[in-house]
Amino acid sequence: MNLLGYTYEDILALVKENKMGGREEAKKLFSDLYGEGRCEAGRKQASSSPMQPGPGNGFVCDLPPVSGSIEEGGTIKFLLKLEDGLETESIILPMGGRYNTLCISSQIGCRWSCAFCETGKMGLIRNLTKVEILAQLMTAELVYKKPIRNIVFMGMGEAFDNFDNVLGAIDIFTHPWAMNIPKKSICISTVGNVQGISRLTELARKERDKNYHKLHLAVSLNGADDAARSHLMPVNRRWPLAELKESLMETEQFGRKDLLYFEYIMIKGVTDGEENGRKLIDFAKGFPKITVNLIPFNPGRDSGFEKPTAEELERFHEQLLTAGIRVFTRNSQGERIMAACGQLGNRKSENTDKM
Ligand code: SF4
Repeated sequence: MNLLGYTYEDILALVKENKMGGREEAKKLFSDLYGEGRCEAGRKQASSSPMQPGPGNGFVCDLPPVSGSIEEGGTIKFLLKLEDGLETESIILPMGGRYNTLCISSQIGCRWSCAFCETGKMGLIRNLTKVEILAQLMTAELVYKKPIRNIVFMGMGEAFDNFDNVLGAIDIFTHPWAMNIPKKSICISTVGNVQGISRLTELARKERDKNYHKLHLAVSLNGADDAARSHLMPVNRRWPLAELKESLMETEQFGRKDLLYFEYIMIKGVTDGEENGRKLIDFAKGFPKITVNLIPFNPGRDSGFEKPTAEELERFHEQLLTAGIRVFTRNSQGERIMAACGQLGNRKSENTDKM
């Protein structure tokens, strides 16, 4: 029986059902499972290795195998081969020192077809299960031995289109007896899915003790007038900017320092320039504490877009700064291996040696 995906409550029920003990045994099994990939039900044996069946209890922690990986300057992109033959993509990004950020996928493909995005070209193939989301973190920590301190849902897919599985995985990532990653170290990136933003707002209010209000939200903006944004991001036709702004102002994250980000991809001749800067400044009015992350476009295969010059980037950055907006220009780590924003899902079926 593969225990991956089981909550503490599930494990407690299992332990009782199998007459293996009570709360203490369940806690041990739960924390061994997610902390070390072990399933020994309370009897840790130095000789047993991670991801092997527990001695005689029939439980396993079965992670999908790594089907390909590539490293550049410390950034590692890896694929997991799922039961149906599809592959997830995840990126380990060094933070300096011992710790790393993990960029996680929530879907295979994506339905939103943003014009600048490689994943969008695939269309939506399917949601990842809670187990497949969890497996990405466990692989980074147990297989690659990279301690993860931050998680960003910025890989393949729109996280809010897979709300229940993403939140289910977050519950385990953040459980103090499992991975114990604080909610404030997790960022959910969204295309501007107003339905998902509203669900999170509701959940954060209803289940205050679970600290969902501490999750960071990164909204992929990439345009600050409806015509321009709809051109790049079809989601804007469903939820235009005014509706998006209203829903963000309702969130528990609104007005809280460092919890609300606007991601803005800088594309030469499309999203850059003084006029776009002015529109972005206008959109940002009314948000007291947002941060804008400017992401120089990472030219993909056949993208048809280019990134602006360093001078153009600098000028746009200064324009926002002068208007009193907190702004960062992000370096795209892992540019060559297509591990930068909007660049996953580009060649799923190709030989991974060529990634
Ligand atoms: S940018 Fe995000 S929402 Fe848009 S197509 Fe790509 S993965 Fe989907």
